[in-house]
Amino acid sequence: MSQYPHIFTPLDLGHVTLPNRVLMGSMHTNLEERGDWNAVAEFYAERARGGVALMVTGGMAPNNEGGVFPGAAGLFTPEDIAHHKIITDRVHAAGGRIAMQILHAGRYAYGPDCVAPSAIKSPISPFPPKELDEAGIEKQIADIATAAARAREAGYDGVEVMGSEGYFLNQFLVRHTNKREDGWGGSFENRMRLPVEVVKRVREAVGPDFIVIFRISLIDLIPDGSTWEEVVTLAKAVEAAGATMLNTGIGWHEARVPTIVTSVPRAAFTWLTGRLKPEVSIPVITSNRINTPEIGESVLAEGCADMVSMARPFLADADFVVKAKEGRAAEIAPCIACNQACLDHTFQGKVSSCLVNPRAAHETEIVITKTEAPKSIAVVGAGPAGLSAAITAAERGHAVTLFDRASELGGQLTMARAIPGKEEFHGLTDWFKTMIEKTGVTVKLETDATPDLLAPFDEIIIATGVQPRDPEIPTEGGQVVTYIDILKGRVTAGKRVAVIGAGGIGFDVAEFLTVTDSPTLDLEEWKREWGVGDPAQTPGGLTKPAPEAPAREVTLLQRKKEKLGRRLGKTTGWVHRAALHMKDVKMIGGVNYEKITAEGLHVTFGEARENPTLIEADTVVLCAGQLSDRSLADALIAAGRSPHVIGGADVAAELDAKRAIDQGTRLAAAL
Ligand code: NAP
Ligand code: SF4
Repeated sequence: MSQYPHIFTPLDLGHVTLPNRVLMGSMHTNLEERGDWNAVAEFYAERARGGVALMVTGGMAPNNEGGVFPGAAGLFTPEDIAHHKIITDRVHAAGGRIAMQILHAGRYAYGPDCVAPSAIKSPISPFPPKELDEAGIEKQIADIATAAARAREAGYDGVEVMGSEGYFLNQFLVRHTNKREDGWGGSFENRMRLPVEVVKRVREAVGPDFIVIFRISLIDLIPDGSTWEEVVTLAKAVEAAGATMLNTGIGWHEARVPTIVTSVPRAAFTWLTGRLKPEVSIPVITSNRINTPEIGESVLAEGCADMVSMARPFLADADFVVKAKEGRAAEIAPCIACNQACLDHTFQGKVSSCLVNPRAAHETEIVITKTEAPKSIAVVGAGPAGLSAAITAAERGHAVTLFDRASELGGQLTMARAIPGKEEFHGLTDWFKTMIEKTGVTVKLETDATPDLLAPFDEIIIATGVQPRDPEIPTEGGQVVTYIDILKGRVTAGKRVAVIGAGGIGFDVAEFLTVTDSPTLDLEEWKREWGVGDPAQTPGGLTKPAPEAPAREVTLLQRKKEKLGRRLGKTTGWVHRAALHMKDVKMIGGVNYEKITAEGLHVTFGEARENPTLIEADTVVLCAGQLSDRSLADALIAAGRSPHVIGGADVAAELDAKRAIDQGTRLAAAL
């Protein structure tokens, strides 16, 4: 019997039976916009081969005004149908099923032609929408129904109608964005008319034997959002209008509550799907922060849903389902919910990928094949760059030996997992350990790799990482430590702390110093902290945030005269900033560091070094960036060898695990 009996119970949808209870949720890869339909098809086919029951594509626009941005991919013309057919043919040949998401962005459409129930600009877009008239509303309905019919023609197994996350249909549902006084606004019956009519017309357009998923917002997390009673009323109406399944949507994009980042507790919102399930007779799908088969199984076993949706976990590992089925869950590369290579890329107009798996959405570009000329390869440094290189090289059939001075694998990752809210890094280091063992890499820990020791190897990969930069501030006393001392628990900081440097590590250290117990590990505490209530009590489910008092008084500083944290991840930086504000962390930019004394840190401002100020502190923590550790690489070059230098040892600036893993994987794929 399977370790995950609920996951591997088939789901009968009437005209079709899905083999298991795992859905790959919609993700935008940006490959469609580049017109690389072969790459799109391969992306989905690889995941179909991995055994997922049903996939949902990235959102496809039903018309120009509804596209997320001008030129967003859609399904408008017969030529589009031919492109989409490349995807569906490839998925079906791989034994999978795929539904196309129809996404009308409404006022979230990033362009001047956007339309909405009322002419109210969204706080996350510069474009004020045009209020639709009766004919305009009819056009939107007709376009969505036509897109559904075209999806069927293109060979899809179904469509998902996007009705949540604050997009077009969701905008009609709530008074916050729908101020209409005609038959499409006012009473809830009127406000839900559009989504219900859309589902009805989509069903008419596609016929009975076609999957129609409606993605419903269970908690809007905006002021004046839907009440629970309204959510249930809509769910029942959408069921009656012909939906096959309901998928869970959580929070509008403009919500100031995080819903998917790594600090959100796992399965944080499944209680809402569980509450909806008994209200309808069609299957319900739950989502958000489900990233292991254990979590998926427990959600299903508790009766919270009929299916679990995971999106980003399928970027991290296309074989998630087959590995779970074969009892190889430890080999599933974990999604750590960092957003660094997926959503952050999407919003920067880059092709999405995955920090943990650089092949995601690059399947045709990074091809890992067995080598015909096995070599002996030494990898020095067991951080993310070295680990990825070692695993990929060993998978290809090379004989790999991995050296590190430390007593455990992981490099900088071993510090990241100590940060409250970054517990997912435990899973990543565990996965690296599993894969190092599985691929047969020889590991030599607590070993100083010297040029003599490395001499016999055919190829040498240097991934010796970085050393913390010493900003060389004149010091006359006081406790001055590095972030490594703090995160490795070598020293305990005093009550008042000045943190020098506000990059990713400065932010992490400030979080580490102010948080006592990680709310990520305690759902009720996390909900209190961020003000997540119950939509049955407050419309939209917002309450007043009530964070725990900070453990220390922290001041975070940088020399640049700009908002602190401005360069953090596009989709995660605001969460880090908000989390530190909750802990009363003072953020000061534009400083010159003059000296450190027993009283604290002395700073001045501006080029004229004005306004001398003492930041009173018992401890000063240096988080002033990194310098490459190239000493071994230089010694090898001097000895006449040509090592491959990757990760922080190559370029320290803006080093992160994403670049390290990408570089390690690509190098090893080519050796
Ligand atoms: P970083 O992001 O490059 O930040 C270094 C900080 O040190 C900056 O605030 C910089 O600000 C300051 N600094 C640089 N030179 C200095 C000097 N000589 N004296 C005083 N201050 C100086 O580096 P990091 O924080 O060490 O992080 C390393 C990498 O890890 C980052 O690039 C990041 O991608 C990754 N990381 C990411 C996250 C995340 O949440 N995504 C978390 C942790 C780490 P000023 O020059 O303005 O003073
Ligand atoms: Fe998950 Fe990060 Fe990969 Fe995105 S980049 S899929 S969040 S691990």
